[in-house]
Amino acid sequence: AFVEPIRLDLPGPMPWRAMLVLADDTSSKRAERMRADFLANASHELRTPLASLSGFIETLRGPAREDPDAQERFLSIMYDQTERMRRLIDDLLSLSRVEMNEHLAPSGEADLAELAREVVNALSPVAEPRGISLELRRPDGPVLVQGERDQLYEVIENLVENALKYSEDAGRVCISVHGGLTRDASEHAETRISDESGRLTIAAPPLSTDSRYGVVRVQDRGKGIDRRYLPRLSERFFRVGGQKSSPTSGTGLGLAIVKHIVTRHRGGFTVESAPEKGSVFSVFFPMRQAAQTGDTASREPG
Ligand code: ADP
Repeated sequence: AFVEPIRLDLPGPMPWRAMLVLADDTSSKRAERMRADFLANASHELRTPLASLSGFIETLRGPAREDPDAQERFLSIMYDQTERMRRLIDDLLSLSRVEMNEHLAPSGEADLAELAREVVNALSPVAEPRGISLELRRPDGPVLVQGERDQLYEVIENLVENALKYSEDAGRVCISVHGGLTRDASEHAETRISDESGRLTIAAPPLSTDSRYGVVRVQDRGKGIDRRYLPRLSERFFRVGGQKSSPTSGTGLGLAIVKHIVTRHRGGFTVESAPEKGSVFSVFFPMRQAAQTGDTASREPG
């Protein structure tokens, strides 16, 4: 699987050593192309709000110089554009931090129930003015998983931010946390969409029915996602329908970050969604080893 299918019209048999060098060259070229694409995309995304900012500055200096109403309106748009650039830069930094550490196994442990509570507290001020009820269901005790606290927080934060962003005002977002055996590990075994439910598993190594996972599930009743877009959700800069023009819109990097963090933690990430009905995003992470062996008596059978 490592060697690329390359066709070369060389006379005689090709030595293996040469073959491997060529394969390596191809994959590094591909990586180079991906980096170039990424840079082009990132620059374009930054250039758009910047161009709009300089346009408004010109207008404020010229035609709008004597018009306080127009000035107020333009300043508010300019503020939105700078916020958009800030979000983009934050997400780009996050993504590059995650990618830099990707090859290192995550150390430490974190309590998913506590992290979910912190995210809910932090995002209540976003939900409340829009009349969205943000509910958290969690067990009394901790749900301890192996992993880096800040990264796991970022995953939950991204999912809840999305649930809020793509919900109508006065909607409802429900976050639930639990830990236990994966009953449906076979469902998580590979990247695919099942026909009926529109369920997609985005990133998951084969999970064992023997292992315990901490799960965070974020459910909204928002706009939902057409199943044909599900496989592209974690692509960098992918946004359903483009949506680039809206100033309140996101960056298209959130789920790419989620995917990287989940993969690094040897966890999984599933999405179920139906247009106009809502979405359920679930992430699961291996539970801390001690918890796994410590309470075998309370394990469910099978
Ligand atoms: P963004 O910053 O645009 O939200 P993400 O990578 O987080 O980027 O998500 C990619 C796209 O997936 C979004 O632009 C949106 O179209 C879709 N999406 C993500 N979460 C939801 C959700 N809860 N409901 C509906 N659509 C969603």
